[in-house]
Amino acid sequence: MSFANATALSATELLYKGTDFSSLSCLERQWAAWYIWIGNPIIATGLMSFLLHEVVYFGRCVPWIIIDAIPYFHKWKLQPNKVPTPKEQWECTKQVLFSHFTIELPAIWLFHPLAESVGMSTWQVPFPTWKAVLPQVFFFFVFEDFFHFVAHQALHTGILYKHIHKLHHKYSAPFGLAAEYAHPAEVFILGFGTLAGPILYCVFARDLHILTVYIWIVLRLFQAIDAHSGYDFPWSLQHIIPFWSGADHHDFHHMAFTNNFSTSFRWWDHICGTDNLYREYKKKLRAAKTSMKGASKAQLEAAEKALQDEFEEEGIKAEAAVGAKAKVQ
Ligand SMILES: [Zn+2]
Ligand SMILES: [Zn+2]
Repeated sequence: MSFANATALSATELLYKGTDFSSLSCLERQWAAWYIWIGNPIIATGLMSFLLHEVVYFGRCVPWIIIDAIPYFHKWKLQPNKVPTPKEQWECTKQVLFSHFTIELPAIWLFHPLAESVGMSTWQVPFPTWKAVLPQVFFFFVFEDFFHFVAHQALHTGILYKHIHKLHHKYSAPFGLAAEYAHPAEVFILGFGTLAGPILYCVFARDLHILTVYIWIVLRLFQAIDAHSGYDFPWSLQHIIPFWSGADHHDFHHMAFTNNFSTSFRWWDHICGTDNLYREYKKKLRAAKTSMKGASKAQLEAAEKALQDEFEEEGIKAEAAVGAKAKVQ
């Protein structure tokens, strides 16, 4: 990249005037080259954000689609009798793609002006150090988790459930692609929790690079898709970090319609007692497995299914009660 002829510099190239490119890393040079190539920072950020979201979302769903197609993995499925069919997955993909292009694309486009208005760095290089990035990302996780815990409970009441959140509860046994299967209003409400953390942080600290926001969004997408995967492996993160929610936590929310309202961590549901039925279910499941020592695999599966049916039936009643309540409001 040559900046020798100052008269021929484009507006975007001028942004980098005086930058010592030899001191930058390969990724930082590519970042600057992207902004110079596109020639308009708003379009460059919008396009990069949208592509990142699409590539990471569908890219992360691919391993789960493959796992669903291989019966060997079904022994780790939380609701083993409910493996999604390819048709169900395709129907879900179409709905998710429709909302990505009609709702998320315009919203992502507005993110660059909003980010710049609060002083967030976008086209700038060099990038912040890992020492700066890690605590920021941790703060975004904690903030989003609490926001989601509160907003998700609100979405389970009256008209908010009936007209908005009901769509996301179409699948009582979720799968990766269903993570963003939701009403546009829900995408906005819960998406606010994902983006408000970085924006608030930037308003107060005035020191945040959009790359940190991208790292956060990639991790958040991984969290959301994995939580909807329907699989609990012995090596899943919740077995390494005990306060991590994971699929085990959120799958119960879809199955029983209640409990476990937070996203990444278990602590708010635990403190507020909104995991009481989940803990009762786990206790009953453990007790059944202990009392049935020596039973065949089929007998164990039948006992697990009977217990799941019991909690799901209670969930259907609870959902009907919310629906009935919504009618009289
Ligand atoms: Zn819900
Ligand atoms: Zn969900």
